[in-house]
Amino acid sequence: MADRVVEVPQYEVAEQVTVDPHRTALLIVDMQNDFVKEGGKLVVPTAKLTIPPLRHLLELARQSGMTVAYTQDSHLPGDPEFELFGEHCLVGTPGWEVIEELVPQAGELVYQKRRYDGFYGTSLEHDLRVRGIDTLIIGGTVANICVLHTAGSAALRWFKVIVPRDAISALTEFDLESALRQVHFLYRGTITGSGCISVKS
Ligand code: ZN
Repeated sequence: MADRVVEVPQYEVAEQVTVDPHRTALLIVDMQNDFVKEGGKLVVPTAKLTIPPLRHLLELARQSGMTVAYTQDSHLPGDPEFELFGEHCLVGTPGWEVIEELVPQAGELVYQKRRYDGFYGTSLEHDLRVRGIDTLIIGGTVANICVLHTAGSAALRWFKVIVPRDAISALTEFDLESALRQVHFLYRGTITGSGCISVKS
């Protein structure tokens, strides 16, 4: 098939988003050594560029008392996902660890997940509900895989979804843009920048 050029349909990018820190959680998806660091098993080259925006969001969340949660892609030997992507994020290996720049602090929530969706097979929904959280700021990698599935799964449960576009990464620009289009159009999420989010005092 000949190469085709498609235009990304317009989606809105919000210049200012204000959240209630008591009803909002920052969810950092799969920022693990295998995906982010040179020599990792499944590196997304642009993922390292999202570290400063994610650190900024972490600071905002920690200072304002927002819930901070992480997903950690976690596979056991022989996981069928390895047939699709090769071995990665094997539980207990250095590649499986969250990168040191974003390391979770005591009391923050970490969800080991087997598949793309952070809600699948984890207590994430329960833990958000009991905290009265209705809004998720989602960043991390990979934009069109684990970020998108987790954002979609959140939206299906009627959580409001905010995705700062400088805090996500994908293997191609197409993958990133199509994920954002899907979040905006299908899940009615808010696309913004990491510096455009402020907290209600
Ligand atoms: Zn995986």
